[in-house]
Parts: sequence; C-alpha cells; structure tokens
Amino acid sequence: MVDRSSDRLGPLSAVALEPGAQDRRDDGTRLADVGAAPRVGVGIRTDAMIECERQPGRYPRKMRDLDDLAHRIEKFTDARDWGRFHTPRGLALALAGEVGELAAELQWKTDSELAAGISDDLRSRLSDEVADVLIYLIRFSQVCGIDPVEQAHAKVTRNEDRYPVAHSKGSAAKYTELPRT
Ligand SMILES: [Mg+2]
Repeated sequence: MVDRSSDRLGPLSAVALEPGAQDRRDDGTRLADVGAAPRVGVGIRTDAMIECERQPGRYPRKMRDLDDLAHRIEKFTDARDWGRFHTPRGLALALAGEVGELAAELQWKTDSELAAGISDDLRSRLSDEVADVLIYLIRFSQVCGIDPVEQAHAKVTRNEDRYPVAHSKGSAAKYTELPRT
C-alpha cells in the first residue's frame, strides 16, 4: 500500500488574526524582518505555510518536486498515447473545467464557515481538485513549451516592481492606480 500521508500540505489551521497580526509570527517577530510572506486569507493557514514562516526561504518539501511530477505526467501520457488528444485548446478547457470544480466546492460557503475550519471531507475533495488543476496546468505548459515555475518567478519579480511595499501595503488597489514613484 502506498503511503500518501506526506502527499498533502497538512491540515488547515483556523486562527483568528488580530488587526496587524498578518504581519507578525506568533512570537511577535515581524514577518518582513525574516523575509517571510504575510499571512493571508481570512485567518486560515496550512501547516506548510506555518513551516515557511518558521524557515523563511524554504518551501514545503513536496513543493520542490514539481520537476519529478512533470516527468511523471509526461510518462503517463506517452505510455497511453494520449498526447494526440492534448491540444493547447483542449488542455486549456480541461484546466478551466477543473478550476470550476475547485470553485464549486466553496461557492456557497461563507467566510465565517471557512474560518471555523475545513472538514477532513472537504479537504479531501479540495485536494482532489487541486491535483487535477496542477496536472492540467503542467501538461498545458509542456505542450506549449512554457516553464511555469520560471514564468511564475518572472511574474513575481514584475509584481514586486508594480506593487512597491511603500504604496501597496494593506491596499487592494491595482498597480495602475498606485502613485508613481
Ligand atoms: Mg476534478
């Protein structure tokens, strides 16, 4: 039997964040001082996110395995000769469909329901859809010759320029509406 216990990012922790707490760790250390990302959402953090805060600059172990996963998906596809069906259009539609399935799991849940915690059953269904989305995104990238990790890094770099901390901290304004420096 395959042990899949380490495949998931870990249980979600529902924490009521005090005003300003998204910028601090539980011990009061400012996240910006240790290079960690601010806490996000409505006070829901995964164990993996907490691990990132404790070890700034480190990704959860499984998040570093994207390359292995991409090769495995390619091998799976080739063995079944399914590459013939994987056109960019077909894969983009399949990806959109899976994103829709992920959203459908949450569409009628309120923020307060989710802040109270995510049940094991819901987490299991969300995990299933997250897997589908990631697989199709990787496969789409392969077919189109795109390196998704490289492009995501490039986008984050661009967004660091577009959203300077001095002008965007705590603001939901689009970069075109921020003051120019
Ligand atoms: Mg699905």
